[in-house]
Amino acid sequence: METKNQKTEKETDNLLKEEVRKKLSELYKGRSLFAGRKHSKKTRKIISDKLKKYFSDPKNRENMRLKHLGTIRSKESKEKQAQTLNRWWKNNPKAKGRKAQVALLMQSKINRAKISAALKGKKHSKEHSAKVSASIKAKWATPEYREKMLKANRTEEIRKKRSELSSGEKNAMFGICGEKSPNWCGGISKLPYGFEFDDNLKALIKNRDNNMCQECGTNKYLHIHHIDYNKLNNQQSNLITLCRRCNPKANFNREYWIERYKKLINK
Ligand SMILES: [Zn+2]
Repeated sequence: METKNQKTEKETDNLLKEEVRKKLSELYKGRSLFAGRKHSKKTRKIISDKLKKYFSDPKNRENMRLKHLGTIRSKESKEKQAQTLNRWWKNNPKAKGRKAQVALLMQSKINRAKISAALKGKKHSKEHSAKVSASIKAKWATPEYREKMLKANRTEEIRKKRSELSSGEKNAMFGICGEKSPNWCGGISKLPYGFEFDDNLKALIKNRDNNMCQECGTNKYLHIHHIDYNKLNNQQSNLITLCRRCNPKANFNREYWIERYKKLINK
């Protein structure tokens, strides 16, 4: 069987006719002996053992490294590869430059799945993360880019789409409230405030904080927040002025915010 296959493959290769190859590939799509099948556990073990043995030898590792560097590639194979690439460029005129190549790759669902599978559980190196972060920061520093991005996000269509994607049952947090919430603190939000916590005290704290959200500096929609989350602890050292945007942030990472707010009011 194998030799026959190899023979036909060689023949078509020699013909070098795109059409023939295309037709064959279509003909064999999903029909190949191996389509949808995997090696048995035993075979996989044998392959893996062989590979491990091969790569345990530093000589082999060096060999492989050189091979991938292209130093061992023969002239013929180099030319062949160049031809294949050139043909590919011709057929994909849009793919100019690395970025375009990657974009083209990512158009295919299969490629995306493959890449995502290969990257699963892997983390970027610190250097790479820093590079990416720096390039994004540089982009956002230019007014044109900022305007473009903000405009792009503001279109009615996109807003609608986003809201549809994450509303109701589609939202990851759907139905996760009360005791099911990771931020559940025993129902303290339903507890009453202490009697000292009145308009006078609130005005006093706002005054102390210069009528500004101590997190972002706005003077609109101000609330008084209990730093230790205890509504009965109405000491001035436990109260801070926050706006309605910054206040909800304190519901995550409580320990972090307690420390932060304590520092802020002691400034
Ligand atoms: Zn704020």
